[in-house]
This record gives sequence, C-alpha cells and structure tokens, in this order.
Amino acid sequence: MLKADLHCHSTVSDGALAPAVVAEHAHRGGVELWALTDHDEVGGIPAAREAAKALGMRFVAGVEISVTYANETVHIVGLDIDETNEQLVAGLASTRTGRDARGREIGAQLAAAGIPGAYEGALDYVGNPDLMSRTHFARFLVARGICNNINEVFKNYLSEGKPGYVPHRWATLEQAVGWIKGAGGVAVIAHPGRYKFGPMVEGALFDRFKELGGVAIEVVTGSHTTDQYGKYALLAKQYGFLASRGTDFHGPGETRVDFAHLPPLPAGVTPIWHDWV
Ligand code: AMP
Ligand code: MN
Ligand code: MN
Ligand code: MN
Repeated sequence: MLKADLHCHSTVSDGALAPAVVAEHAHRGGVELWALTDHDEVGGIPAAREAAKALGMRFVAGVEISVTYANETVHIVGLDIDETNEQLVAGLASTRTGRDARGREIGAQLAAAGIPGAYEGALDYVGNPDLMSRTHFARFLVARGICNNINEVFKNYLSEGKPGYVPHRWATLEQAVGWIKGAGGVAVIAHPGRYKFGPMVEGALFDRFKELGGVAIEVVTGSHTTDQYGKYALLAKQYGFLASRGTDFHGPGETRVDFAHLPPLPAGVTPIWHDWV
C-alpha cells in the first residue's frame, strides 16, 4: 500500500517546525504522498508543496478546520483543496478571528490560578500571530517546568473544567464542509475517536457529515489507539466512508506515533487516495 500521511502541522499553526522541515521529516519517515493540514490556515501550502517537489514526494494541499458541533470542538480535514479559493480563504480568516482575545483570556485565567505571564510566554512559541493555539500555552508551561509534558498541561489546565479553559465558538459543520467542497477538495472527519460523543451523537455527526457531502473519516491517526483503528475501519465500511491516515505530527517528541511508525490502514477499507494515484 502507498505510504500516505495526510495530517500534520507546521509553525503556520501549532506545529513546532516550518513547512519545509516537516516535509523533510515526512520524507525521511518514508512518506510517499503527503499533505500539510494546518489548523484554519493554508499559508504554509506553497512552501510545503515546493519542498515536497524537491524531495520527489507527492503532495496534496490540506487544511484542518475547527468546528463547533453539539457543543464540542470537532476537526474537519480538507484534502486536495485549491488553497487560493476565495471563499475558503475568507472563511478560514473568519474562524481565526478571536484566537488572540481567547489567548489573552487564557493568560488571565492562568494568572488567577497562580501562573503569571502565560500569554506573553506562549507568544514566544507562536509562528503566526493569527493562530495562537492552546498548544503554544502548553509548550510554555512545559518549558517553565509547571508540567512534565504537553498532555499533562491539557489534562490539568487547558481542557474543559480546568483553570485555563476558555470556550470558543468555531465554524459550523456546514461551513467547513462547504468551504472544502467549494475549493474542489474532499472533507474528512479528523480523529473521530477523540470526541467525547456517545454512539448516538457520533452517529448523528456521521449522518449529517455525509448528507453535507463529507466523504471520509480518519481511521489510522496518531490520536487513535490500536483498538480504535479497528473500530473506525468498521464504521467507515458501515457508513460508506473512505478511510484516511495521518500522524497528526506537531513536532519531534510531541506526537504519539511518528511518520516512520504509524501503521497502514487495516484491510477492507478504501483509502481516500484510491483514485488519486
Ligand atoms: P486550539 O485549536 O487552540 O483549541 O488547540 C487545539 C490543539 O491542541 C489540537 O490541535 C492539538 O494539537 C492540541 N491538543 C488538544 N488536546 C491535547 C492533548 N490532550 N494533548 C496534547 N495536545 C492536545
Ligand atoms: Mn494541533
Ligand atoms: Mn485535530
Ligand atoms: Mn491536527
């Protein structure tokens, strides 16, 4: 099977490496078909495409759009998009507004919890001023020695109910799928195993996504356990979704599985790239 990795991040969103450096890591990990999918941003695509070309690695343009669905944040990956599509570019710009104000509020809440200077500290890790992410706060708290790793920061500070959690309203599912399709791309539900939905709400999400024209779900991702590879392979078949695969790489040492070690898609699913190559 072709080694495709269709989900990862650069400094254009909350990744730790520049797009061309992520390309090198992917290539070194044996990736043959690669997509950069920064959060709510396509600014890294030209550099990523150029780097992939120089390495002889096939490339598709991608994005990971933040969506609010049933009061939860859901991520929708768009693949094979025209990153210059005006509606997509404008839509992504609209979802990015409010990130800085949210960052300031996170900083204020952490200060109240006894951690001063977090907004300024997180800014040191931000590569794109439009895209301040919780990940940047997490890196700062780890660097400060307040937590041992990024996961611990999310567990203790940045998730719902914790002192640095600030809720945010992202794009709607309809908007995200519409922008991706309008830009000639295909829409994929990212890491479905990560959402806290029960089977009913998950099923409703899958049905609605399909109705809107969504075509795939991620089956093998750095965010899934081995059990979830099997579970979502089965669900992909049941719903008639294509299957996608990607590390969700954010930087060396920050992702559970790196480019070289992510397993292939299970047998019996149709890869999203089946008619691309
Ligand atoms: P934001 O878009 O600012 O809300 O940040 C979301 C990002 O935080 C995700 O894309 C992940 O990169 C990161 N993230 C969320 N939860 C965790 C977690 N438990 N451990 C590590 N990173 C996480
Ligand atoms: Mn991220
Ligand atoms: Mn995600
Ligand atoms: Mn991601």
